[in-house]
Amino acid sequence: METKTLTTDVLVIGAGLAGLRAAIQIRRYDLDVIIAEKSTGRTNLSTVAGGTQGIVMNYWSLSMPKGIKALYERGVKGGAWEIMYGKDQRMEEINALEQVPYQDELAEFGVLNPRDQKSYGPPGRMSWATTGPMYKYVQEQGAKLMKYFNITDILTLDGRCVGAVGFDVVSGDFMVVKAKAVVMATGGAGECWERNNTPVRSTGDGHAIAYRNGVEMNMMEYESFDAWIISEKDQPQYWVPPSYARTMVNLTNAKGEDFLPNYMTLGEGATLKPGDPFHIKYGTPVIDNVATIARAMAVEVLEGRGDDGGVFCDFTHIPEDVWMAEPKGIAGLHAMRNFDWETKPIRMYPGALGSWGGIKISEECETTIPWLFAGGEVSYGEDLKYTLVFGVRAGRSGAEYAMNASPIEPDPAQVNEKKDYLKRITSRQENDEGNPRAIREAVQKLSMDKFGILKTEEGLLEGLKALDDIRETAREKMYAEDPRELRLAFESECMIDCQEMHAKAALMRTETRGVHNRLDYPYMDNDLWIKDIRIKKQNGDMKLWTVPTRPGYVKVPKGRTPIMGLKQMDK
Ligand SMILES: Cc1cc2nc3c(=O)[nH]c(=O)nc-3n(C[C@H](O)[C@H](O)[C@H](O)COP(=O)(O)OP(=O)(O)OC[C@H]3O[C@@H](n4cnc5c(N)ncnc54)[C@H](O)[C@@H]3O)c2cc1C
Repeated sequence: METKTLTTDVLVIGAGLAGLRAAIQIRRYDLDVIIAEKSTGRTNLSTVAGGTQGIVMNYWSLSMPKGIKALYERGVKGGAWEIMYGKDQRMEEINALEQVPYQDELAEFGVLNPRDQKSYGPPGRMSWATTGPMYKYVQEQGAKLMKYFNITDILTLDGRCVGAVGFDVVSGDFMVVKAKAVVMATGGAGECWERNNTPVRSTGDGHAIAYRNGVEMNMMEYESFDAWIISEKDQPQYWVPPSYARTMVNLTNAKGEDFLPNYMTLGEGATLKPGDPFHIKYGTPVIDNVATIARAMAVEVLEGRGDDGGVFCDFTHIPEDVWMAEPKGIAGLHAMRNFDWETKPIRMYPGALGSWGGIKISEECETTIPWLFAGGEVSYGEDLKYTLVFGVRAGRSGAEYAMNASPIEPDPAQVNEKKDYLKRITSRQENDEGNPRAIREAVQKLSMDKFGILKTEEGLLEGLKALDDIRETAREKMYAEDPRELRLAFESECMIDCQEMHAKAALMRTETRGVHNRLDYPYMDNDLWIKDIRIKKQNGDMKLWTVPTRPGYVKVPKGRTPIMGLKQMDK
């Protein structure tokens, strides 16, 4: 393994929307910036997303001061979709205040009409309308984008971050980057679950790297599960993107029952008429109910009212003009999959979508290690708006630190130690237990079975025990025959760390809240649980503790709220 050394003012890890936006900000300070991206840049969350407008579009019709207030309050309350009063209110206010101008600014980077993206297309192409022009722009501004550069660790000296190491996924060279500041923007960890609609490279690398270095983590129990993922034998686990067709779907269990009313409070005037769009049928928009729909689907299957592991989504009544209203959307997917949605219902079951928690950051995106900053899904928030807002803030903070800092030489012994970790994997012989693909699949399967959408104490404890065994095998046996396999091996070990954090935090949170479901605690407990769960590696062990969630002006209702559709037990 040859070693190559690079020097820069700021290193950005990850070329999704957060990393790209951070790098643009850093270039405004006229500082050198390297963006290390372990893949092509097309296999990230930002490129498969539905579009930057997402939820915000509902609020653009409001006058702005009212719009900001509405965005902030929605962020805190979370509808039935997110974390329901469990988020830091100051961060939500920042997000509400800054997201609209930063979305509008995308037009300057060549993104065509960011307020009106109709970019729903086959997976891998949906938000390319945003990230595509930004790749071009960020490089025109002078950022050095290094593709196939997998970062495996950060370098620290006297408790500060002084750079990072990794390897070139094509040549296999060991790479050292000396940097005055580092911005972590590695995205989420959805690939840790067997069922997911996230890109293959979303393996929680930044979460694991930060944790291993003693950085404080936050809210790791919150992984959202998307309802709309196909669960048909011999069919890929594709996501059904938002579309007119999706909002008119008839969702039934194996008995043909419309089961959603058992899980959600119906809105005023709900018609419950099959074929009516959700906001008319249930009196609530579909977007505000994804977590509830996912929970409902999973409970139906768990309690034996599913069919072959899924529930039925019937699109057969959708008129031709509605399908064709989005020619690149759902109809395009239909053609791709050779599945006749227009004549028979399709089975669906939820899968992992995004990580709400991650590296604990301050308002300025500082982590608990000086000179290491973080933004995007690796830190706080799981959508393009948070990604933009905290991407800008992480870039700005990194630049401000770098402007006033002198370069610091990393400790050569530490560099060698990190190189040895990779060499150990590449020098192992192929063996029966250490195949990185098999280890990855074992983590994914275990996560789905024991840390999936519906959790219990028993399942979490069993899963954690089994995870220990997988970790042991990975540590002792995992091998890599080429640099691409090394990427897989590294990712598998990150997934193990991420899932240990996720499961331990989920075990600690003895309630159900938004995307976090505990079958043995089927209620939201605001008296006990308006708290963040923090995690840190201390003396080699994973330490978890709680701190009160930072309040704001939105008052949190007191008491316990039973969650509809979950069997209520007396605890
Ligand atoms: C199917 C789907 C639909 C969505 N739809 C919407 C929507 O409509 N609206 C909305 O607002 N949000 C949506 N989201 C959420 C949104 O896409 C994400 O929250 C956001 O894109 C995260 O951006 P990011 O820059 O943090 O991560 P990413 O875009 O994933 O970028 C992270 C990058 O880091 C790279 N990387 C990771 N580890 C390393 C490493 N070790 N070394 C080097 N590089 C590394 C990855 O390869 C990747 O390119 C959706 C998500 C999914 C999965």
